[in-house]
Amino acid sequence: MIAAGEVAELLQQLIRNACVNDGTPGSGGEIRSADSLDEFLGIEGERREPHPGRVSVVYRLPGARRAPTLTFMGHTDVVPVSREGWTVDPFAGERRDGFVWGRGAIDMLNQTAAMACVFKRFASGSLRYPGDLVFLAVADEEAGGRLGARWLVEDHWPLVASDYLLTEIGTPALLGRSGPGVPVTVAEKGLQWRRLHTRGASGHGSQPYATDNALVRVADAVSTLVANPPGPHITDEWRRFVSAWDPPEELAAALVDADHIDAAIDRLAVHDVGLARWVHACTHLTVSPNVMHAGIKANVIADRAEAQIDVRSLPGQDETDVTDHFRKAIGPGFDELGYEVVEASAANGSPPEGPLWDAISAATGEVAPGSHLIPSMIPIGTDARFFRRRGTVAYGVGLFDDRVGFGDFLRMFHGHDERVSEASLGMTADLYLRTVERLAAQV
Ligand SMILES: [Zn+2]
Repeated sequence: MIAAGEVAELLQQLIRNACVNDGTPGSGGEIRSADSLDEFLGIEGERREPHPGRVSVVYRLPGARRAPTLTFMGHTDVVPVSREGWTVDPFAGERRDGFVWGRGAIDMLNQTAAMACVFKRFASGSLRYPGDLVFLAVADEEAGGRLGARWLVEDHWPLVASDYLLTEIGTPALLGRSGPGVPVTVAEKGLQWRRLHTRGASGHGSQPYATDNALVRVADAVSTLVANPPGPHITDEWRRFVSAWDPPEELAAALVDADHIDAAIDRLAVHDVGLARWVHACTHLTVSPNVMHAGIKANVIADRAEAQIDVRSLPGQDETDVTDHFRKAIGPGFDELGYEVVEASAANGSPPEGPLWDAISAATGEVAPGSHLIPSMIPIGTDARFFRRRGTVAYGVGLFDDRVGFGDFLRMFHGHDERVSEASLGMTADLYLRTVERLAAQV
């Protein structure tokens, strides 16, 4: 048993370290949290620092015999905030009404703190795992891991090689006809970022007649793209999720029926827009234009423009499917634009079976009696994908009390007033501890 207060205190410290990653190499400053973790654990981890201040730390306890390596991986960076949206200082790590508030409270400093508390029990020698037990605190998850997990896996694999990995994301349970189901992340959608760009001819903004305005052309293409969204695509991963969730019969039937799912999502959105967005994302190729740059001055016709588009692909959809969709949705105008593949990584997953799965299942039954696991595909990309490419079985899980529902919880990701209940911190730590014990008994 690990006291919730111990996890909460470490979480407060990690929030106060404010390792804000804005995507530039000079941001982050994860060295602050590496220092906090060294101090908390009472040991010095092995540090890697690909850029000043961007520190990832590997804490390894060698096993006494040959058994699978188990790694807990938590990222220590967080995304920036819009302070106006917050009712508390997002970096004060306040404790109020039984919650710890602040940027990173659910993504994922809560899990990182719980992992550290569990690892400390093993580091002090009071508990043992037969194989290597690793706690990996990584930088730069929020910008794609090039200064963190991705770099470690691709360039320093022997340092981080692992059979099993536990990481994000963890969410509250979903209630179904067979009781509360704890979503365990076993798969994630692919990242397919695209850039549309074009050149036009500049001229005086006072005389737009018959000019070639680059902004208008890219804006038109983006509007047309969004006006012709991809239709639903029901995957085996999604069927498995719905079956384990076991929602009311009518909803369950609609959720796996391509003819009815869009109407079902609209109905869900009336009461729970967070859940509706999740369901939509898990059943569609999604297209979200998020950045646009054009022009140089209000009275100069825009001679260049670009749009950056966040596309997320489902299992079975590849780079070509995305390009085909752009061509079809935008129509004849597509071939007149520049089109660039910025990122193309496919959906990935680990099978929901085997010793680690069984250990999580048994541990969940002990900490949250009466609940079962839901193998879940998430629409978000995490550092787990780099490990899965190397054959590691990677899952994401946490446990939460019922003070925040699934949909509301999801809306706090990268949102305002991010917070986690102290009870949930204790439950998550307890789950991790029991998972290691259960796995140790099997391997
Ligand atoms: Zn995260």
